Amino acid sequence: MFGSEPHRRERRTEADVRALPPLPRPDRATMCAEATCGCTLVLVVVAVLVATTESVASSLRPESYLSILGRIAILTEAAVALACLCGLMFGDPGVVKRSVSTCFPMPRQVADALEREGKVQLQHNIVEGQHEYCTRCLLWRGTKSDGCHHCSTCQRCVRAFDHHCGVFGRCIAGNGYGGNMGYFKVLISMGGAGIFTAMTFSLASMAEHITRGGDLILAVMTISMTVGSCCCCSCVMWAVANPSSAPALV
Ligand SMILES: [Zn+2]
Ligand SMILES: [Zn+2]
Repeated sequence: MFGSEPHRRERRTEADVRALPPLPRPDRATMCAEATCGCTLVLVVVAVLVATTESVASSLRPESYLSILGRIAILTEAAVALACLCGLMFGDPGVVKRSVSTCFPMPRQVADALEREGKVQLQHNIVEGQHEYCTRCLLWRGTKSDGCHHCSTCQRCVRAFDHHCGVFGRCIAGNGYGGNMGYFKVLISMGGAGIFTAMTFSLASMAEHITRGGDLILAVMTISMTVGSCCCCSCVMWAVANPSSAPALV
């Protein structure tokens, strides 16, 4: 099926791509456990920050511009964070797909191994000039400057690879608008923005309480609750944003 010399000149089709041995199996159990952990963390952080801001808002006069502003800000941040979470979970990080152009022409060693054994067990990738061939995915994954890497958990080659996130169970990759790096960065930013909103809102509400001659004890309790919630959320966001610290959480 995979001839030695003629394989470089033959016209290949999608049928030849489908005839290749299957792609390696991803570690789905690990990915699912990590994704469950990441989604739960994001939902908990969103719920805590929205609840904190809402409880501060409910202690203010309903018509207060501060009350309206705080609610709008935190709900917008929560919506953006959840949209980014969906993007991370369901978006493509930049996996290099098998196609006629990426699979062929096959390196001689690979074609010979397939001809002989029907599978490839090379321990190293093949580099020809600037081009790299992954001997696990059986495809040309681009040049060195593309920053491709074969993720040992997802078992796929990913362009502009940054890291495999042990919290979300996904490769984090991409430059500019490509990949899912944008979702990841915006999600982390929304965590920071949510903490900022809750803290600022809480301080502003305390100032309003004092100005109105309201209950000072209630104001101090409110801000203590906000500080506690924000500290917990900051720890979670820090762990998510630092891949090396992530395994401690899962
Ligand atoms: Zn690969
Ligand atoms: Zn991965």
